[in-house]
Amino acid sequence: MATIFKRILDGEIPADVVYEDDDCLAFRDINPAAPTHILVIPRKEIARVDAAEDGDEALLGHLLRVAGLVARQEGLSGFRLVINNGASAGQTVFHLHVHVIGGRSLAWPPG
Ligand code: AMP
Repeated sequence: MATIFKRILDGEIPADVVYEDDDCLAFRDINPAAPTHILVIPRKEIARVDAAEDGDEALLGHLLRVAGLVARQEGLSGFRLVINNGASAGQTVFHLHVHVIGGRSLAWPPG
């Protein structure tokens, strides 16, 4: 069954898109954890970061580059990038995504 993010990529479910290119899409999280909360996802279906394969290096790097771009686009200087890998780490959607979280002070370590 298609993940919710695959359905967003396929245009079946709307999303508040802030950036897109041939390799990825960035859109606002529907349940934001901070004033700015954006998800950057690859168009390629990769379930989790530890499912990435040889040959995905450029794509993984691109996701970080785009995360930085959208953070700057949002006017953030301090922000946090999060990738949850696996249910025990809080992953709920099994399509790789980078959370871009900012707009408030962020505690460390994360919960
Ligand atoms: P994770 O828990 O790391 O798998 O993150 C999944 C994120 O996807 C959560 O922060 C959800 O709020 C977000 N999310 C789930 N469905 C949607 C949706 N339809 N549009 C935007 N964000 C979503």
